[in-house]
Amino acid sequence: MKKLLLIKYGELTTKKDNRNLFINMLCTNISKILKDYDFKIIKTRVRMFIEIDENKMDEIILKLQKIFGIHSIVICDKVNNNIDEIGEKIVSILKNKDFKTFKIETNRSNKNFYLTSPEVNRELGGYVLKRMEKTVDVHHPDIFVNIEIRDDFTYIYLNEYKGAGGYPVGVQGKGLLMLSGGIDSPVAGFLAMKRGINVSGLYFESPPHTSNEAKEKVINLGKILNEYSGLFKLHIVPFTDLQEAIYRNVPDNYIITIMRRMMYRIAEKYAKKNAFKAIINGESVGQVASQTLSSMICINDVTSYPIIRPVCCMDKLEIIDIAKKIGTYETSILPYEDCCTVFVPKHPVINPELSKCLEYEKRFDYETLVDECVNNIQVINISKKEYNDIL
Ligand code: ATP
Ligand code: MG
Repeated sequence: MKKLLLIKYGELTTKKDNRNLFINMLCTNISKILKDYDFKIIKTRVRMFIEIDENKMDEIILKLQKIFGIHSIVICDKVNNNIDEIGEKIVSILKNKDFKTFKIETNRSNKNFYLTSPEVNRELGGYVLKRMEKTVDVHHPDIFVNIEIRDDFTYIYLNEYKGAGGYPVGVQGKGLLMLSGGIDSPVAGFLAMKRGINVSGLYFESPPHTSNEAKEKVINLGKILNEYSGLFKLHIVPFTDLQEAIYRNVPDNYIITIMRRMMYRIAEKYAKKNAFKAIINGESVGQVASQTLSSMICINDVTSYPIIRPVCCMDKLEIIDIAKKIGTYETSILPYEDCCTVFVPKHPVINPELSKCLEYEKRFDYETLVDECVNNIQVINISKKEYNDIL
């Protein structure tokens, strides 16, 4: 049996100029996420319908709930614009439900229909009361029966499933997420996607100081993020030579500051080269020494690119809350080392000075090493399951 899902658009209803772009992007994203299922999308100006196989309905709704740009998902029945047919359908839907009171709510965009919305409510309410031992409660009903009378058909639905909101991924172009194996950066990526950014990950690895398991963990985080976009790619930076050079040339307490300046340099160069319009990361003010405002001045000094820090003003507990909701938390807490933790000094500087950074950086030819990193980045298309080859 086929079933119809009605998709109510999210914030895009307010963006009239970009409406077509938004709807087409949402349509493309839904098609990608549902590619393993039989489905048909029917677009209208204000709504979208997806015809699916009833047996797959529960799994499909779970997948749709992860797609940005959807306000809500509604399972609905479609009948002709005929009051008896509508009434009969309502009774057949309500037969299997456990409730005492109900309310009919009609929305009539078809102004040629011979009854007004209040008249339809009364007519259909009466139809149900005659056939079922129930009562109408217009204030606090157990069940709302929603009726939409449109030009072509009438749609009937009971409950709405909440969608993920936001904008369809892709309407804002591409962004490059500095993705570590930690808790914060996947959450930052998720929040950026919600604003319509097509997010790809940039992961700095330093084998043999960091392990294959650490990389696998980041790939697994990429797989989870991919469920929200169907477009996720992971770009892996071979960071070992540059990191060892920093370790050899820079005093202990400045290692992290310089390392992060190098990360930003690499991210910016790579972003420019590949048309990423912003760099996104999981920095949060005050969380660690490299994320004090003084550190951030010093680190940010190497780039003029837009840096988006979606979790910058959130408490750790708030970030953890989102990580749990989006499914990244359990993977993030697995105990594998990151390049930032392998070389972590005992006392990183909390108020670094820019002049010192410049002085230490003169001690080695970091530019060549930065270029080598940028030129040797490996790309794994997570949405195309390319990770199997490298694990
Ligand atoms: P997370 O912030 O993801 O929980 P973390 O707290 O261990 O991990 P920090 O040392 O706080 O990471 O680094 C701040 C941000 O820098 C991270 O959120 C991430 O965006 C970026 N970052 C750190 N290490 C890496 C890495 N190995 N590859 C890519 N980005 C990284
Ligand atoms: Mg962090």
